[in-house]
Amino acid sequence: MKLVNFINGKWRDPRNAKFTPVLNPATGEELAQVQMSSKADVDEAARAAKLAQKKWAKVPAPKRADYLYEIGRLMKERKEHLAQVLTKEMGKVIEEGRGEVQEGIDMAYYMAGEGRRLFGETTPSELADKFAMSVRAPIGVVGLITPWNFPVAIATWKSFPAIVGGNTFLWKPATETPMMAYEMGKIFEEVGLPEGVANIVFGAGSEVGTAMIEHPDIRVISFTGSTDTGRQVAEMGGRHLKKVSLEMGGKNAVIVMEDADLDLAVEGILWSAFGTAGQRCTACSRVIVHKDAKEELQNRLLEKMKTLTIGDGTDESVKVGPVINQKALEKIHSYVEIGQQEGATLLVGGDILKGSAYDKGNYYAPTLFTDVSPEMRIAQEEIFGPVVSIIEVGGFDEAIEVNNGVIYGLSSSIYTADVNRVFKAQRDLDTGIVYINAGTTGAEIHLPFGGTKGTGNGHRDSGVAALDVFTEWKSIYVDY
Ligand code: GLU
Repeated sequence: MKLVNFINGKWRDPRNAKFTPVLNPATGEELAQVQMSSKADVDEAARAAKLAQKKWAKVPAPKRADYLYEIGRLMKERKEHLAQVLTKEMGKVIEEGRGEVQEGIDMAYYMAGEGRRLFGETTPSELADKFAMSVRAPIGVVGLITPWNFPVAIATWKSFPAIVGGNTFLWKPATETPMMAYEMGKIFEEVGLPEGVANIVFGAGSEVGTAMIEHPDIRVISFTGSTDTGRQVAEMGGRHLKKVSLEMGGKNAVIVMEDADLDLAVEGILWSAFGTAGQRCTACSRVIVHKDAKEELQNRLLEKMKTLTIGDGTDESVKVGPVINQKALEKIHSYVEIGQQEGATLLVGGDILKGSAYDKGNYYAPTLFTDVSPEMRIAQEEIFGPVVSIIEVGGFDEAIEVNNGVIYGLSSSIYTADVNRVFKAQRDLDTGIVYINAGTTGAEIHLPFGGTKGTGNGHRDSGVAALDVFTEWKSIYVDY
C-alpha cells in the first residue's frame, strides 16, 4: 500500500514520488510505504488551501461545525478498524488504541458544539454614537505538525478547531504513523469537506516541516513533539513572524503522601508510567514519595509490575506494547545505563527484551529505579519510555519543590486524603495539568491541554482554549 498526499480533495499521483517504509513496531513487518514530500508539494498544498480558505471563511461557523458531526459519526462507525490500524502502526495496546480513537470522536462533537458558540463581545464605548465589538475571525491557512505517539487524538485536537475556526490546513503527520492520517483523509473526503480545506502532506520534518514554517501563506504552526524540535520550530517561526503553538516534553511526577490510598496510587502510577510504553508526553516518570510510605509503595509496585504482560498490542491480554523504533529502544537503554552510573538502584527491568516473542519488535522491560535523587539526569530529562524513578521526600513542601524542580511543566499528580494539601497542591504545582488522586495521563479533551516552562509557549491544545490558537480577535468599531 502506497500512502500519498491528499491535496485539494485528491489523493496525488504516486509517480515520481519518493517513499519510505512504515514498520509495525511489534513485529517489524512492513505495513505500507509513505510518500516523502518535497517543498514543491508543500507549495502546491498551500496554494490549494489558500484558495479554499477564502470560501471556507464565509461558510457560517455552525455549518462548518456540521462537518465535524459527520466526521465524528464516521469515526464512531469505524472505531474498531481505526483502533486496529493505530495499534499496528504505533504499537500501543488495543485498549488504549480504542481509547485514543474515542478521544478523537469526543473532540469532533465537542468542537462541533463550539461552532455554535464562537462568541464575540460587545464593549461600551467611551464616546457617544459609537458601537464597539470584537469577533473571533478565521486566521487563514494553518500548519499542523503532529507526533507518532497519538497519531489520531492530537491530530483532532488541532484540525477540528482549525476547521470550526474557518481555517484551511496543511497537516504533516509523523512519518512513523501515516496510516491514521490516511484513514482521517478518507473520512474528510467522505464527509465532503470542500476541496482544499484539509490537506495532508507526508514527509520529514526537515523538509516538509521546514517548508511549512517558511511558507509565507501559512500563518499558524501548531506543533506537538520534542522540546529540541519545538525550539527550532519557534526560532524559525519567529523569523517568519508566525503564530507558533508548541506542545513539547514532560517529566511528570506522581506525589504519594503518607496518608494516600496506596492501592489507588499504585494503579495510577502503573497506568501513567507504562501505558503507551511510557511514550506519552504526560507519562509518569517520577514518583515522589513520603519516606513513611516509600517501602510499602515500592513493594506494591514491584508486585503489580509482575502482572504486566508485554507483547504485541493487538493481543487483548497484553498490557505493555513495544516502543516505536530501534532508535527509541537505544535511547531508553542509554538512560538506564546513566541511572546506574549515577548511583540509582535498579529494582526491576533495565533491559531490551530478547527471545523469540520479542526479537522482531522493539520491546523494553518496564523499569523501576529507587534511591533516585532529584538532580540525577534520570530524574530531570525526558526518557520517553517505560522507566520510572522513585524519589523519597520528607514532607509536603519538599514534594512540591521536587516536582517543580525540572525544566518541564506538563502534568503532575498528588495522592493524599488531606483536603488542605489538595488545595495547596493545585495552587503550587507548576504544571499545566494537575491531577488529584489520579495518575498523570488521560487528559480530557474538554479541558485545555498544555504545560508551563519547557513544555509549552503559553498556548493550549483542546478545550475551548484551542480556539485561541486558530482564531484571531478582530475589533470592529462603528461610528454612527
Ligand atoms: N492524551 C494524552 C494524555 O493525557 C497526552 C498526549 C501526549 O502524550 O502527547 O495522556
